[in-house]
Amino acid sequence: MAKRDFYDILGVGKSASQDEIKKAYRKLAIKYHPDKNPDDAEAEAKFKEAAEAYEVLGNPEKRQKYDQFGHQAFGAGGGFGGGGMNMDDIFSHFGDIFGGAFGGGGGFGGFGGGGGGSRHQRGSNLRVRVKLTLEDIAHGVEKKIKIRRATAADGVSYKTCSTCHGSGQVQRVQNTILGQMRTASACPTCHGTGKTIDKKPAGVGADGLERKEETVSIKIPAGVVDGMQLRVSGKGNAGPMGGPAGDLMVLIEEEEHPTLKRDGNNLHFDMYITFPTAAMGGSVEIPTITGKARVKVDAGTQSGKVLRLKGKGLPSVEGYGTGDLLVHLNVWTPKNLSSEEKKILEQLQNSDNFQPHPGKNEKGFFERVKDMFGQ
Ligand SMILES: [Zn+2]
Repeated sequence: MAKRDFYDILGVGKSASQDEIKKAYRKLAIKYHPDKNPDDAEAEAKFKEAAEAYEVLGNPEKRQKYDQFGHQAFGAGGGFGGGGMNMDDIFSHFGDIFGGAFGGGGGFGGFGGGGGGSRHQRGSNLRVRVKLTLEDIAHGVEKKIKIRRATAADGVSYKTCSTCHGSGQVQRVQNTILGQMRTASACPTCHGTGKTIDKKPAGVGADGLERKEETVSIKIPAGVVDGMQLRVSGKGNAGPMGGPAGDLMVLIEEEEHPTLKRDGNNLHFDMYITFPTAAMGGSVEIPTITGKARVKVDAGTQSGKVLRLKGKGLPSVEGYGTGDLLVHLNVWTPKNLSSEEKKILEQLQNSDNFQPHPGKNEKGFFERVKDMFGQ
């Protein structure tokens, strides 16, 4: 049987991040888990297939080999070329994948390969919110943010764990009706890291970490959207016992602009013009995201007309195209009239020119909406 591509199995692209791969695998592992699909051979095969794909793609080193050489990299004699993985191997992933919450006892060890055996525990992610103005979003911005993160403390030395002798896991043997079953689980002394602290200065926790304030500079690309999350890898908490750091997740919050309203990459501005300007034409000044612009108002402009300023909106975060600025013209009706103004208007009241007779060019509300969103 031809082997399926590992990326296809997990349903991710070749450029997927390690985190995306992990998430994709977690989804499949839950879906095809044998506990949820008892006596379903197909589900079991899928479960194993996903585990095998993750075993390679979940490990940057193996993934690189796979990208270069394909299945051959792990072919004949190579770990999983033959009959696939056994269930114990698969379940030992789960401590890592499900953060220990899955099925208890899920080990961290097992897949370290020939070397040290144990696997470093990754540190947790940190989360911060960043408030941005529309101007920040229009141009992209670099923000300096103070965070408190756990980092490996100076002066800490480690020694090999005496419980598991550095393997990070302990074997348990159970007698069952099917004979002896050996299961591996994370070493309770070192939590799977294979190391314990030898010497540490006062004030440093049992994980060998200390919390320190740090200023992190975050480059935010133009065009980001409220609620978007950016990842700064390696700026989360350091892992215990020298494990790699987690990531810093930056949640984007957009501040409301005093005059411009955002709609995707387009901006909207409500402009009030005087009745004489609407009737005789003229030019008016409007705010844009970069400053100001003057726009021409044609003689005989109706309230509700929309002017589109191409390219005066926001850039798309993917880097192609820029939105427009839509100026909604409203004719301002005075609220209090002097008796002199009243007299002038009364003279105009009966002029035939002042009677409404909308023609084809006068678009009603629904036509305008169609124009705005249709093209
Ligand atoms: Zn141990």
